[in-house]
Amino acid sequence: MSERILIDRGHGGSDPGAVGQVREVDITHAWGAAELENALARLGGDYYVLQDGANANSDLTVPVNESNRYGKPWLFVSLHANAGGGTGYETYIYTKSWSDPSTSNLGHTVHNAYGAVARKYGLANRGLKAEDFYVLRETQRRAVLLKLGFVDNKKDADLMVKASYRTEACKSFSKGFDARGGANY
Ligand SMILES: [Zn+2]
Repeated sequence: MSERILIDRGHGGSDPGAVGQVREVDITHAWGAAELENALARLGGDYYVLQDGANANSDLTVPVNESNRYGKPWLFVSLHANAGGGTGYETYIYTKSWSDPSTSNLGHTVHNAYGAVARKYGLANRGLKAEDFYVLRETQRRAVLLKLGFVDNKKDADLMVKASYRTEACKSFSKGFDARGGANY
């Protein structure tokens, strides 16, 4: 594995993120801290879990500032969950990177790696999208933001807190990166 991956566990400190059946921060931290880190470690690649902010504002600026201290080859993968009455998973890249194949390929890789497991469990595919999110815009490298599911949907929430689902999805992530080792993201 040649990729170097920065993992941003969305939210933290006094900022719980979206709250529904579960709190977003509990999802992103469980996924980022344990399973994904372990899955990437098994590949022998470089990865780093970014520090959390202490409040809603620093939740955005801390990971962005920290990630920008790393060199360009690092990929930035931000984990979040959705809210607002929908269901399913979706992945975002920065609007202005939509026409850049190295970023859109990375977006597809992350989206499809998670999707391979999510679809198996009946989670709807909401697609790869472009958005002007702060963390995507201000991170000075290829960045992807994945929304694992909806915290206010019972089916999505039940899946996201399920340890076996998390383990399977995180293994799929690391395989996705591994399969693309050295590829032109
Ligand atoms: Zn979030």
